[in-house]
Amino acid sequence: MNWITKVLKFGEKIKTAINKKRPSKEDIENSDWTTCCKGPVLKKELEQNLWVCELCNKHHRINCRQRFDIVFGKNNYEILKTPSPQDDPLNWMDSKPYKERLKTARKKTGQESAIMIIKTKIKNINVTAGAFDFAFIGGSVGAAEGEAIIYGIQHAIDNKQPFILFTASGGMRMFESLIALSQMTRVTLAINELKKNNLPYIVVLTDPTAGGTTASFGMLGDITFAEPGAIVAFAGKRVIQATVKEELPADFQTSEYVQEKCGFIDSVIERKDLSEKISSILSILLKKNSDIISELNETSEDTRTLTKAAS
Ligand SMILES: [Zn+2]
Repeated sequence: MNWITKVLKFGEKIKTAINKKRPSKEDIENSDWTTCCKGPVLKKELEQNLWVCELCNKHHRINCRQRFDIVFGKNNYEILKTPSPQDDPLNWMDSKPYKERLKTARKKTGQESAIMIIKTKIKNINVTAGAFDFAFIGGSVGAAEGEAIIYGIQHAIDNKQPFILFTASGGMRMFESLIALSQMTRVTLAINELKKNNLPYIVVLTDPTAGGTTASFGMLGDITFAEPGAIVAFAGKRVIQATVKEELPADFQTSEYVQEKCGFIDSVIERKDLSEKISSILSILLKKNSDIISELNETSEDTRTLTKAAS
């Protein structure tokens, strides 16, 4: 063995030793700790405060069950079985097969798709609700996710209930190409049906909501709420900065910024207040709806027919 081989082998040993000390992404995800403004924080402590940092008010990302437990009460809901379209319709393969990615995401989240649909009650109002798990391939939308939302909307229509959607999505899933993109139209058409039935559609934008989700059903709510500090965007900040070649504000594309500068958000609501705010707005919307109907009933025979047709 010459001296070059010896030096190379020694270098390899150092590299292996350094890599061993570095915890993998999976190690961090499975540990009892996560990080926030002041460094490591115990997940248990964060959970007691609804996964919101007491120091900086960062609203950490949560999964569907955690979301439903917080807004509707622990296990106070029934998970609905949504349709399962064919996996990987395009037989997609890039750095690894799409089928592999689906398998890993399912194992990681315990969900069949990025979206979970439930039926539940909020302050005695029956509702259908859906939430995204960003950990499932970045909350991206493919055929299964589109079908899940449409199923949820149809359930709301069949049972004359409002539909509430908590978004956390990077946009449409490019592994399904046009099939994914078509979900923007399909879900939008379903929302139109909900509106034709005079049923409220409430959207809660959570961190992050981007791409085609923002460009379609994320922006079609009768009322649009957002959690503090959530990224709400179409294209990412770096892409825009590189295009316009200008320094963008630090709070660019946060929910507060979007509310103030664009007006796409009605109100930025703290996680602890979401349940209360959603139930009050639903009471107002549903009461208003019935008031209009009774008002119309009192006016004329023609409007009575109209109301009957609309209900
Ligand atoms: Zn913090």
